[in-house]
Amino acid sequence: MDIREPEQLMQGLPDKAKVALTPRAAGYLPSFSIVAPAYNEQEVLEQFHRRVSKVMQDLGADYEIVLVNDGSRDGTLWLMRMLQAQDPRVSIVDLSRNFGKEIALTAGLDHAKGEVVVVLDADLQDPPELIPDMLARWREGYDVVYGVRTQRDGETWLKKATAKAFYRLIRRVSRVDIPQDTGDFRLMSRRVVSEMRGLREVHRFMKGLFAWVGFPSTPLYYRRDARAAGDTKWNYWNLWNFAIEGITSFTVAPLKVATYFGLSIAVLALAYGGFVVGKALLFGDVVKGYPSLMAVVLFLGGIQLLAIGVMGEYIGRIFNEVKARPLYLINRLLPSQLKE
Ligand code: UDP
Ligand code: MG
Repeated sequence: MDIREPEQLMQGLPDKAKVALTPRAAGYLPSFSIVAPAYNEQEVLEQFHRRVSKVMQDLGADYEIVLVNDGSRDGTLWLMRMLQAQDPRVSIVDLSRNFGKEIALTAGLDHAKGEVVVVLDADLQDPPELIPDMLARWREGYDVVYGVRTQRDGETWLKKATAKAFYRLIRRVSRVDIPQDTGDFRLMSRRVVSEMRGLREVHRFMKGLFAWVGFPSTPLYYRRDARAAGDTKWNYWNLWNFAIEGITSFTVAPLKVATYFGLSIAVLALAYGGFVVGKALLFGDVVKGYPSLMAVVLFLGGIQLLAIGVMGEYIGRIFNEVKARPLYLINRLLPSQLKE
């Protein structure tokens, strides 16, 4: 029998996070798929290819670069084909139109053949030079190594503040733990990618889906660079919609808020109703109180419209999911030479 005090037992406990890990062979080099969605990125694509190739060649690993053309209107596709003509490790997934980053990324994951998949933005905001560090973590046994931004260069304080508030909120209202300041920049093992491929919902909040899949994961802190060239495709309207997407995809909390708010108002209304009736019975009914009546009617009308709006958000999403359309269509697929 173990007669040590509980605290002593605790001391012997290994780090909780490490228990689930099975380290991979020390020098083992997996094959890589570097996946990058690109929408109008002609200014940076060549530089992207150069920097990624340098890193991968220094590593000495077998790799492919999966470029997803998300319906670009500039020379992006043409450039991709130029790159592929020079480098058979480039794989091109040319979507039939612009489907948005989340779906473009999904298309890339669907066509990645490597044992390990790294997701990068084509605009070089996620430094490919971190891939060796990610690999080291993968060798420790982690299935997911996700980049966490410690500093965001070239972004306004308003964007930083709203992003921060959003992650706080979503963490509190949803059951999956979506790490703060995390983008799509990450390394994933094959089994994680396979599980991701099983999630075919139309409303894709990728950060949330990545978090939902789970598996042993570890952060890698890095400084997010400013865009190498070109412009961001985000504006505040997009970000707002993105936030709604994130919340409605992962929690029904807004519906519950409507329920409880309605319930409390109903209880208050009942009490007030009793008071009004009692007063009329005791002291007679003198018509008064037009302002308070208007205030209550308008307030309740507003709350009802808001609650219907919230319900509408969910019903709209149900509508989109039941159509069960394919997530994207491919105009042309030009795979790399990497063997599966
Ligand atoms: N992107 C895409 N489809 C779109 C919008 C963006 O594939 O409809 C790609 C874009 O080319 C880039 C990445 O998604 O590689 C991130 O886009 P952006 O730099 O505009 O976003 P931010 O870095 O500002 O979050
Ligand atoms: Mg960017």
